[in-house]
Amino acid sequence: MIKRKIIILLIVCMITSILSACKKDDNTKKTNDNESKKVEETKKPEDNNLEKEKEQEKEKDKNKEQEQVKEKESEKPEEKKEKNKTIAIDAGHQQTGDPSKEPVGPNSSQMKAKVASGTSGVATKKPEYKLTLEVALKLQAELEKRGYNVLMIRKTHDVNISNKERADIANEANVDAFIRIHANGSDNSSTTGAMTICQTESNPYNADMWSKSKLLSECVLDSFVEATNCKREKVWQTDTMSGINWAKVPVTIIEMGYMSNPDEDKLMSTEDYQDKMVMGMANGLEKFLDS
Ligand SMILES: [Zn+2]
Repeated sequence: MIKRKIIILLIVCMITSILSACKKDDNTKKTNDNESKKVEETKKPEDNNLEKEKEQEKEKDKNKEQEQVKEKESEKPEEKKEKNKTIAIDAGHQQTGDPSKEPVGPNSSQMKAKVASGTSGVATKKPEYKLTLEVALKLQAELEKRGYNVLMIRKTHDVNISNKERADIANEANVDAFIRIHANGSDNSSTTGAMTICQTESNPYNADMWSKSKLLSECVLDSFVEATNCKREKVWQTDTMSGINWAKVPVTIIEMGYMSNPDEDKLMSTEDYQDKMVMGMANGLEKFLDS
């Protein structure tokens, strides 16, 4: 009996030990499974991160491409401006006038002095040809800053270029606008204000340029008055100006103010007012060229 009990006990022990071993196996399997799951889980976010990074890179590339396209698009109008729009600036008069004569227009028998000597400031004593070049050089800088090509008819005082020749220079370059800068004079010292000048609708030489020249004259005068707050005189349409009659391009003369009025004379020689006049002219030219 005792032997039998011992055998039974041994068998029970063996069974329990086998069972416990199996459980251990299960546990180790489970832990292995968990570990592999953990590995998978840890792998997954890594994969996700990689994919996200790839997507972000793709988006970056897309953004770069879009930015490049935008840059190209924004460059286009500036390139156009620089290549296609040219403005001729004529600083009125010169150091010494030329009283010898030339026809007032093509095929005209009517003759006029090649270059008048111009007026001078009652207060500043400055000759008109000096004031016109001061302003012309500032206008050149402002227009070039805005991307326009500028053709200067003269850059010094010691020249002799007739009014017809000034128009010829603008014609040969086929400029988009021709602005002639002058200052006015009057017997009445209280007269102030600005005007622009162009040909009439029935001009015998270049009536085909009348509507464009009139629009240019209006744009320049309106913007000039807006920038300077000076008195607006008018757009004077006349066929007596050689430099206008010989022009085959849109043309205007601006009479910036009266050198015969002490206050306006002094004002036109100040840096601050010259900057305002230049901004007004540049705004008017830009408005005309954009129309
Ligand atoms: Zn003049």
